[in-house]
Amino acid sequence: MSILVKSISKLYGEQKALDDVSFEVHPGQVVGFLGPNGAGKSTMMKIISCFLPQTSGSVTVNGYDVVNQSMEVRAMVGYLPEHNPLYTDMYIKEFLEFVGRIHLPKAEAVKRTKEMIELTGLGVEQHKKIGALSKGYRQRVGLAQAMIHNPSVLILDEPTTGLDPNQLVEIRSLIRNIGKEKTVILSTHIMQEVEAICDRVLIINKGKIVADDSANVLRQQSKHGNVIHVEFDKEANEVQLMKIKGVLSVHKEKDKTWRIESEGDIDIRQELFRFAVDHHLTVMGLQKEEGNLESVFRQLTVNK
Ligand code: ADP
Ligand code: MG
Repeated sequence: MSILVKSISKLYGEQKALDDVSFEVHPGQVVGFLGPNGAGKSTMMKIISCFLPQTSGSVTVNGYDVVNQSMEVRAMVGYLPEHNPLYTDMYIKEFLEFVGRIHLPKAEAVKRTKEMIELTGLGVEQHKKIGALSKGYRQRVGLAQAMIHNPSVLILDEPTTGLDPNQLVEIRSLIRNIGKEKTVILSTHIMQEVEAICDRVLIINKGKIVADDSANVLRQQSKHGNVIHVEFDKEANEVQLMKIKGVLSVHKEKDKTWRIESEGDIDIRQELFRFAVDHHLTVMGLQKEEGNLESVFRQLTVNK
């Protein structure tokens, strides 16, 4: 087991940023750590990366304790902090060798720097100062420094925030590739990101874990899974539609097209066809809305 978090709480003065958080991450998993701003994501990631001590509970990485064996843990964990603070006055190579030297002998740091520049696609920019780079390239430098000592675990705090759509696609694909070989926890508040990259989703709200499952399983929990869009050939009557067994709400989307929400496990499609026959209508189109993570996320975190 790579990461074992047991009953972690963190107080900042009076404020409880983490409240009895427990979870496990297995080797090779890519876990999306999802939650609204202020939920406690960064705090949890700092604790796993030995940058912040917890108030109570314990975290081990590959069996090593983050407080009592922090040197061992640091050697196994690569961390990309939120806002990716970098030395803007340093050249890319100079910076990566500098970070590498914290963990590695000089020759090894130089060798790994070359490899990381290659892996993260920094080649064309490698002679520039970090301050001269675009945000996307800075993120690559951030990823390169996190991986310079070849850690088996990567903790990436909002690695794609502030990127443009092209950079986003590039960095996501980079993380997906890295994730094939490493255990990764990445935080984000972008649902599509989790769908695109992660095997598993942990949702945190106000310092507590509120969901821990695969994206697929969570999607099925969406209450919005029971929405049907139906188009008839003629106008239908709203009051009559409401009378169909199991229908909760009816909303006219445009001429002759309706959005119909139904109760829990009732599939009203057959009833809709019967309704059409009874009212001399023809069903021109019928589409079931798939549950999505966005709505699950909202159900679990809004006004909770
Ligand atoms: P997230 O990364 O999910 O946005 P954080 O872990 O940064 O959440 O913050 C969780 C809560 O702890 C927030 O309410 C935040 O204001 C508070 N917090 C974070 N860091 C500190 C700090 N150094 N001192 C006091 N409060 C903090
Ligand atoms: Mg944060």
